[in-house]
Amino acid sequence: MSAIDQLPPLRAVIAAHGLSARKALGQNFLLDLNLTAKIARQAGDLTRADILEIGPGPGGLTRGLLAEGARRVLAVEKDARCLPALDEIAAAYPGRLEVIHGDALEIDPLAHLSPPIKVVANLPYNVGTELLVRWLTPPDWPPFWDSLTLMFQREVAERIVARPGSKAYGRLAILAQWRAEARIVMDLPPEAFTPPPKVRSAVVQLTARQAPLYPADPAILSRVVAAAFNQRRKMLRASLRGLAPDIEARLEAVGIAPTDRAERVSLEKFCALARNIAGDG
Ligand code: SAM
Repeated sequence: MSAIDQLPPLRAVIAAHGLSARKALGQNFLLDLNLTAKIARQAGDLTRADILEIGPGPGGLTRGLLAEGARRVLAVEKDARCLPALDEIAAAYPGRLEVIHGDALEIDPLAHLSPPIKVVANLPYNVGTELLVRWLTPPDWPPFWDSLTLMFQREVAERIVARPGSKAYGRLAILAQWRAEARIVMDLPPEAFTPPPKVRSAVVQLTARQAPLYPADPAILSRVVAAAFNQRRKMLRASLRGLAPDIEARLEAVGIAPTDRAERVSLEKFCALARNIAGDG
């Protein structure tokens, strides 16, 4: 296996800094630098972008990003034990890596980044979905990021890219696909990580659309989709009854059968229903 940089192998870094993995922090580390460089490449040309990385840990993906030419990397890590290892990477790539010690859910990293910005991360499983939903629901669109290249448990990745008619199709698919192009670009077995998690993982690539795929008020669309999928086994005329007294007529007006179930309705139709309920469709 060829070295991607002059720094010590990750196993040596982990031993030197005593970085035994902590479950509470979602720590499953990637130690194969050829693999982390491959993940970094999924994000496209890094040389003209600032990268936001959440949870660099001992720095495997960080090193992949820098070796692949990232203009700058801003890495936010909660575990103080990882900071000395990350300092060594920063010293090997002068001026290109900044590390913030803190909780990604509480820190606003934007002040430290210049567009275009790509987010690349092997996310801690306990905050991954919450971060994704935040990145997909900023007050203004387009968002601060051009693309998100994110590792998730395979089951979450499938929910992000799911199509109507599948079991995985739900709120996450609609939110992600309304505002971004989403696809699974890599599949990783548990053995790729140290320690190995119980489940398979996958990398999802999301590219921000300039405007959402179909017009709709985000708050109304979100209410419609939440009501529809909260009772996904029910017919829509029942699950959406609380949204409008004449919901059956509104469903019919946009071409949705009132007896249909949420998981069969396309994103386009959900947007049409949101516009109808808002009074402009
Ligand atoms: N990027 C490394 C890799 O690929 O080997 C580590 C990935 S590990 C799945 C997740 C990382 O996120 C850990 O280093 C963990 O300490 C960190 N982390 C967990 N919760 C965090 C939070 N709320 N904010 C920032 N980092 C967090």
